[in-house]
Amino acid sequence: MSKTRTRFAPSPTGYMHIGNLRTALYEYLIAKHDHGDFILRIEDTDQGRKVEDATDMIYRVMKQTGLSYDEGPDIPGEVGPYIQSERLPIYKEYADKLVELGGAHYCFCDEETVEESKQEGSEELGYIDPCKNIPLEEAKQRIANGEKYVVRQTIPDTGITSFEDEVYGHIEVENAGLAEGVLLKSDGFPTYNFANIVDDHLMNITHVVRGNEYLSSTPKYNLIYQAFGWDIPTYIHCPPVMKDEKHKLSKRNGDASYQDLIEKGFLNEAILNYIALLGWSPEGEKELLTLDELIEEFDVKRISKSGAIFDINKLKWMNSQYLKNKSTEELVQLCQPFLEKAYDLSGKDQKWIENLIVVHKDHISYGEEIIDQVKLFFEDEVHMDEEAKEFMQEESIPHTLEVFKSHLEQLSEEDFNEENIFKCIKATQKEAKARGKMLYMPIRIATTGIMHGPDLASSIMLLGKEKVLSRLS
Ligand code: GLU
Repeated sequence: MSKTRTRFAPSPTGYMHIGNLRTALYEYLIAKHDHGDFILRIEDTDQGRKVEDATDMIYRVMKQTGLSYDEGPDIPGEVGPYIQSERLPIYKEYADKLVELGGAHYCFCDEETVEESKQEGSEELGYIDPCKNIPLEEAKQRIANGEKYVVRQTIPDTGITSFEDEVYGHIEVENAGLAEGVLLKSDGFPTYNFANIVDDHLMNITHVVRGNEYLSSTPKYNLIYQAFGWDIPTYIHCPPVMKDEKHKLSKRNGDASYQDLIEKGFLNEAILNYIALLGWSPEGEKELLTLDELIEEFDVKRISKSGAIFDINKLKWMNSQYLKNKSTEELVQLCQPFLEKAYDLSGKDQKWIENLIVVHKDHISYGEEIIDQVKLFFEDEVHMDEEAKEFMQEESIPHTLEVFKSHLEQLSEEDFNEENIFKCIKATQKEAKARGKMLYMPIRIATTGIMHGPDLASSIMLLGKEKVLSRLS
């Protein structure tokens, strides 16, 4: 059996959406599961859609994700170049070959004729091309005379083309229903419909993972494979990633891309773990899987046919699980930039910033959430909601707070730490005869304004003696 080789073939259109990344991940997992090669190929033949710097963005994202490829534009292998616009002579050579083999023909129709004919005829059938009947020698002569032409696929009028898809099973279509599309344009650029076949073959790709929007074109591709006498790769067409029951996830509707999620402080490993589960499930109940575990477990047979819904809450949950295992250093590295952007940290020492982050570790599910969580540490006033205000009406509370304040006042600045603050709370419990909720809640609300938050003594320490005493007053 030949070595498993997969390829991720993004078009440089500006961002990496979640569906793209899932394709890359599945390709990577298939290759690595089989100890095979994972290849990056840049599909930039649609020059109109090309976005400046988008290719660099692809390299950056691939590095960030850790889905390292064995061959690609910046990691030369034996079957390059890996950027389609650098392969134009190859497409030309194979387009001419295909014409000789009867799988395509030269077409001299101008675009207007084609458009008009499409409008008159059935959309589905696309263009019915009169040039199909031009004898090959005559066509070659016209080309030699400098006439503009495209190479158009020739599809048999009758018969059936079928193939097996790993996800969708047996697919069968009548050839008469397949459009004879352009394979090589007059400017020498191939269309996706041609380039994907030539490249997958020449790059020895064994497994093709792509969106199910390509499912209906795949029979056309297979006719070309057959005309060349090439092996057809294993197809794995995946259902789209959905925003909800009806809508696809799309950047155009403002849905998050990989970069957006990273910018919000989601962890790469959590994103990959979550994305792997969008339409695929491992055997068993385990949901948290490292990349190595995903490689071990991945099996295309367990990819689902129905569209998976991208559930940001599920991703948040997963991310929070990964955050729990982060070291202080990693956590600070993730969260501090958000604090720096949102607050004036001058005058705060690094230890204080670190403590602030660590104390809130269990209260954030991704980096950016730290901003909201720690707001009260940067405000002069305490802000209480209605429920908190109502709670504070209780008669015994002023006395409890008085007692607590008098104990805190006795602590020097140096002694203002969690342990001693906790002792003050305990002393208040005895002296004011306040217990449980009637002890902790008033102190928490008076100092922080909120009814639920991280460890009380830690919060009070982080607020600092001065601020706490003034709030208690
Ligand atoms: N360049 C195509 C896209 O970005 C890739 C499709 C494929 O993987 O074959 O949609």
